[in-house]
Amino acid sequence: MTGTGSEMPPSDTPEAPWKATVLTLFEEMFPGPLGQSLAGQGLKDGIWSLETVDIRGFASDKHRSVDDTPFGGGPGMVMRADVVDAAIEKVKAESGERPLIYLSPRGRPLNQERVRELAAGAGLVLLCGRYEGVDERVLKAHEIEEVSLGDFVLSGGEPAAMAMIDACVRLLPGIMGSDMSGEEESFERGLLEYPHYTRPQQWRGMTVPEVLLSGHHEKIEAWRKSQAEEMTRTRRPDLWAAFEKKN
Ligand code: SAH
Repeated sequence: MTGTGSEMPPSDTPEAPWKATVLTLFEEMFPGPLGQSLAGQGLKDGIWSLETVDIRGFASDKHRSVDDTPFGGGPGMVMRADVVDAAIEKVKAESGERPLIYLSPRGRPLNQERVRELAAGAGLVLLCGRYEGVDERVLKAHEIEEVSLGDFVLSGGEPAAMAMIDACVRLLPGIMGSDMSGEEESFERGLLEYPHYTRPQQWRGMTVPEVLLSGHHEKIEAWRKSQAEEMTRTRRPDLWAAFEKKN
């Protein structure tokens, strides 16, 4: 506090930690799983920070309604453009460089490459839909990037936001026990990861592959590489084709 020694440049400001802001109708869902384990420890240690914004707080009518019936008819409700926009405007004023992303099954599927980019940035601003989703015009007005977790439909964007934040946060410096443990993982090199084994060495009549007990690091590495390739070839022909093209 008082340590303003002459060696300190006057404009020195501490680097802001990676920050996630989540716009949601269900603030109470957070931090949820993000408060546990690796992500939870990182949150306590101030390696990253989390802010939730209650979209309902931006509703202007006396019923505080955030959704309405779809024009053209059909089932379900749609989140109103004006309400979502007001929430976004408020957040945008202080979100700086952080990208604004709408979690949506129509979005570009999330992958490890994109997760790496996002983890290397300043953080995320995530919009969680509910019901049938949000009015198309608000997506257009803010040129919101849409990101999907996969080809299935969730009942809301919150579990997707949590998964996305979790994937980014575990890559932040200081989160994972060993800096190496991220590099060999599935998708990092375009392959699925090799299989793991630990004690007991004998279990239900099954033993551990001999090579892993050999202490021969080169042989172990070669075995793991071939296992990763085999696993990818048989389980994910799409990844394997892309890997072969690259290598
Ligand atoms: N009617 C929409 C689905 C709405 S599901 C459609 O058919 O495309 C409600 C909300 O859940 C969405 O607004 C979105 O925020 C979230 N959601 C559902 N599936 C998702 C997925 N695969 N990835 C990311 N978010 C998803």
